[in-house]
Order: sequence, then C-alpha cells, then structure tokens
Amino acid sequence: MLSLRQVSVTLEGTEVVSDVSLDLPDGQVLAVLGPSGSGKSTLLRAVAGLEDASGEIGWDGRSLAGVPTHRRGFALMFQDGQLFDHLTVGGNVGYPLRLRRVRGNALRHRVAELLELVGLGGYAGRRPATLSGGERQRVALARALAVEPRLLLLDEPLSALDAGLRERLAGDLRRILTESGTTALLVTHDHDEAFAVADRLAVLRAGRLVQEGTIGEVWRAPVDADTALFLGYARVLTGAAAVRLLTTAGLPAAPEVALRRSALVVDPAGALEATVVSARMTPDQMRLVVDLDGVGPLDAVAAPDVHAGPGDRVRLRLEVSRLAAIDVP
Ligand code: ADP
Ligand code: MG
Repeated sequence: MLSLRQVSVTLEGTEVVSDVSLDLPDGQVLAVLGPSGSGKSTLLRAVAGLEDASGEIGWDGRSLAGVPTHRRGFALMFQDGQLFDHLTVGGNVGYPLRLRRVRGNALRHRVAELLELVGLGGYAGRRPATLSGGERQRVALARALAVEPRLLLLDEPLSALDAGLRERLAGDLRRILTESGTTALLVTHDHDEAFAVADRLAVLRAGRLVQEGTIGEVWRAPVDADTALFLGYARVLTGAAAVRLLTTAGLPAAPEVALRRSALVVDPAGALEATVVSARMTPDQMRLVVDLDGVGPLDAVAAPDVHAGPGDRVRLRLEVSRLAAIDVP
C-alpha cells in the first residue's frame, strides 16, 4: 500500500504541499479534493517521483526515495488524456505493452480486452481525432491500465468533459477501477467527481490536509465552514442563527450549521415559520427563498403542487439528513 508521512514539496521557494500524511490500502480509491492551486497536482507528481519531496513516500513499507518514476510501477492519467494522435486507438492502448515487448496475438487480445473494459469494444482501428472527449478519456484510461499498474494516479481525469458526460463517466470509472481491482489516487476540485469515484476522501487546502475519512464521514461532519461549502453545502449559518435553527427543529445546538439547498422543506406540520421572498418552479420541485423568523433569508424547497408566492407565510421542517452541525473547536 501507499503511505505518505509528512510529505512537503517546495517549488521556487514556496512550500505548496505541507506535511501531508495519508495511507492508501490496496484496492481502494482515494480522492484528494481541493480548490485550484491547493497543491493537488504537485502532490500527485511527488508520488509519481516527478517532483522532489521531503518526508517519506513509501510502498509496502519500503521508501520510494531514489526510485525513478518508470520503476515505481505507477501509471498516470491527466485531464486531457494526452493520446498520440498519429496512432490508432489500438496503437495508443497497446503502446505501453509494446514497450514491454508484448506482440502479435497476445497484444491484440489484451488491447481488445482493455477496450471492452472501458466500453469501447470495436474502436481499435479508429483515430483519436475522430473521438469525442469522453471517448478519448476512456482510451487514455485503457492505456493507463494496460500494464496493470500497482497504483493509478488520476489528475482531474473528467474535468474537461461537460457535466452530463462527466457524471456518466464518473460512474463508469468507479466500476472499471473496482472490476480491475486497481488502487487509485484521484485528485480533483470537483466534489461530485470525488463522491462518484472514490471510497475515501482527503480534503486539501493551501497544501495541507484538513480532513480525511470515508465519503460519508466527511460529508456528515465537515471540519469547518470552508470545507462544508467546498463539499457542496449551500449555506453555513453561525452563532445565534445556527443555534436557533437547530433547537427549533429539536436538534442539539452547535456553533455552526451547514445546510444543503433542500434542507428546509415546506410542510404544514413543520416547526419553523417563514415568509416567502421568492418562488421559482423547476421540473422536480419549487425552489424558494424564505425569510425564516429569527434567522433570515434561506433557500427552501416545496413539492410542485404547493402554492406559495412572495409574502405568503409558510411552515417548514428541517431535513436532518441535509444538514451538518459543525463543532468549531
Ligand atoms: P492544483 O493542482 O491543486 O491546482 P498545483 O499543485 O498545480 O495545484 O499548484 C499548487 C501551487 O504551486 C500553485 O500556487 C501554483 O501556482 C504553484 N506552482 C505550481 N507549479 C509550480 C512551479 N513549477 N513553480 C512554482 N510554483 C508552482
Ligand atoms: Mg492541478
């Protein structure tokens, strides 16, 4: 397994990765989630041996210091697949195999098997230039998996794709990694991508890990407001507003509470009261902004058949699964 102990990387006099420690057991997928510029790519490059780092980077208890990139047994995949445009799809996927002197039928079989795995059976003769963005990334993935790397390093592999495709490919990526038993370290700024692909999550901010755990653990209990917002919570309430909202809803008081957009639901039996500020219909539900008594303006949702317009008084309930109390130390 991969283990990092107090890994730091300094680029041109600035420490961009600071004191990162983490473990990645065999067969798991870990996502390092952080905003742009937080040091994700640099951390990945250090693991690959492309960047000098202080601290310990080890595999199965042995230090990788001094082990060059091509002897680490890792594969890398980037945002823009970096396919060889002068080779066919099959030529691209088979490239790392040919470097290892796989030839003839064995090569053809393995390439076909890999293309099947990524959902591109029959594409071997195509040119990369004729593929969509999503197909190109699948080819890049097949090529990265060709030599069965003991660790796959993925740098924002889906970020260049548009939203719908990204979501579908994220699900496929998870299935492919699981089916092939690949251990993978994914870095991304996109929480949806991290949630869809990984088992565990590590949140990176300004080069430091601020939180680590299973997806559920991190999602249910973000360490602070910035992390909650970065994970996709819509709002964080603090102080009296947080306490008031939590206690009115019958929950223990906390100094901060993070809310999803759909945490407040219009419900005649709800314990909270508010005045509707605005209402907008979407295909699934009504989206409201309400002025919650004693708290202030907040997002809320209602079933599509609820009639509520600006100025109306409504009752609301709080969906406990759509909020997270934050215990500020
Ligand atoms: P991320 O992948 O999270 O967007 P990076 O690891 O690419 O972040 O970069 C982290 C920080 O290091 C950024 O502030 C970036 O400007 C800086 N940086 C990246 N590459 C270099 C370099 N070669 N020299 C100096 N600073 C760099
Ligand atoms: Mg990056």
